[in-house]
Amino acid sequence: MNLPLEIAMPAEASAAPKTYRLLIDGKHVDARDGRTLERKSPGHGFTVSRYAQAGAADVEAAVIAAHKAFETGPWPRMKAAERAAILLKAADLIEARLEEIARLDVLESGKPIAQARGEIGGAVDIWRYAASLARTLHGETYANLGDAMLGVVLREPIGVVSIITPWNFPFLIVSQKLPFALAAGCTAVVKPSEMTSASTFVLGDILMQAGLPDGVVNILAGLGADVGSAMVGHPLVEMVSFTGSTQVGKMTMASAANSLKKVSMELGGKNGQIVFPDADLEAAADAAVFGGFFNAGECCNAGSRLIVHEAIADDFLGAVKAVTAKVTVGDPLDISTKVGAMISSEHLAKVTGYVAAAASDGSQVTSGGRRIASSAGQYLDPTIIRGVTEDMAIAREEVFGPVLSVLTFESIERALRIANNTPYGLSAGVWSASIDTCMSVARNVRSGTVWVNTFMEGYPELPFGGYKQSGLGRELGKRAVEDYTEEKTIQFHRGQRTGWWVG
Ligand code: NAD
Repeated sequence: MNLPLEIAMPAEASAAPKTYRLLIDGKHVDARDGRTLERKSPGHGFTVSRYAQAGAADVEAAVIAAHKAFETGPWPRMKAAERAAILLKAADLIEARLEEIARLDVLESGKPIAQARGEIGGAVDIWRYAASLARTLHGETYANLGDAMLGVVLREPIGVVSIITPWNFPFLIVSQKLPFALAAGCTAVVKPSEMTSASTFVLGDILMQAGLPDGVVNILAGLGADVGSAMVGHPLVEMVSFTGSTQVGKMTMASAANSLKKVSMELGGKNGQIVFPDADLEAAADAAVFGGFFNAGECCNAGSRLIVHEAIADDFLGAVKAVTAKVTVGDPLDISTKVGAMISSEHLAKVTGYVAAAASDGSQVTSGGRRIASSAGQYLDPTIIRGVTEDMAIAREEVFGPVLSVLTFESIERALRIANNTPYGLSAGVWSASIDTCMSVARNVRSGTVWVNTFMEGYPELPFGGYKQSGLGRELGKRAVEDYTEEKTIQFHRGQRTGWWVG
């Protein structure tokens, strides 16, 4: 890596920051107490956005608006085909503004522009998929309960949903939740991360333009401790759909339990890629680098543990290091950049702290490990740590940075033990030419997704979520809309009543 990094200032740096007001009941409004929040580009250092910062009174207004839209508004009562038409229109409008949305996510999160474009394109696909599911949502009938009885099971929208999202995939993650909630007929209050709220506000404008009735989606910028927690605790909210850290997820669940709300939790990961000697090692090396350093490792699915057979460890690690040397770290707005800026200097310090602790625990930092000097933002060299053992913090905890920990194994049993030796269970990868090996790993690894001879692909058709402390419930997939529904059983009796109690 060449030091220091030269970062060109984009046009936005010399313009006034974009401002965003809360979206409540179809109107853009300032926070009731007049507070604002700012976000600086972590890659460039200038102020990108300024938001109205919601407080308790704004949460109250947003929940009331969502509740009114649910209780008396047209959205839950429309034909599914009408809801689907609005979701499809929204997808078209997102597609038309793809570049603008991608650029906002880049400037607020530090992710590379080429990747951000891919995420927004993926989000368009998810909105279309959710629209298609709206029309397939249906209940069940039971005509096998005797001649006098017909059982009907309805799927009804659950009500007001609080949607809380993290900073690492701002537009993509809200798109894994909101269109499915809307397809079911729910209304929502959405809180994006305080660091990356801009693209969610653009989504709000798009939804209004697409014809979503007022109050169906309300968007608040603000901090988790006051806005997020008030959205979780509010008695008129029926469900909380949360993506974020396991630590905050646990607090959120505990708080939701007070009013027995349904929760959906997409949380952290400590995912392993297991590489066997008979694999396509060139492809596996590229995937190891992709898994470790995609989104600067700030990714729930990061393949942060590389679990390699000891017979090939030296050669394979050599190949991984050679690929890593070609990874371009730099300006997130440069089309050739693969690793952009870290989200904040505090987070960067946390990541380098893990690297230092791993080194003092006896492992070897064989690539990177250093902050890259730049006057504009915070960048970290892709880092590979060898000689990691299962007991080290770096092998067990979510580091959430461009740091690949290498562990070795001598048998499939040992590889599985290492892969499963973590409180998390989000995803895993296996690389081998043997169907037996791949199937043994895929069947025995305790995680919600297993990639076989590939890594970190995603499709709206396939459910996504975690085992163990990586989450609760699944997003995407054909049941994603059902998650936002309640079941209602109706028993129709015909003819003279049977089974009198007293007579
Ligand atoms: P975080 O838990 O700090 O914050 C997530 C969201 O929760 C933010 O909007 C935040 O403001 C809000 N929040 C914070 N405190 C809250 C509280 N007390 N009550 C309610 N809301 C509160 O997570 P982060 O740092 O933004 O994101 C990174 C984490 O997200 C990582 O652990 C990562 O693995 C996880 N993540 C998981 C997935 C997945 O699909 N499993 C996807 C992306 C990110």
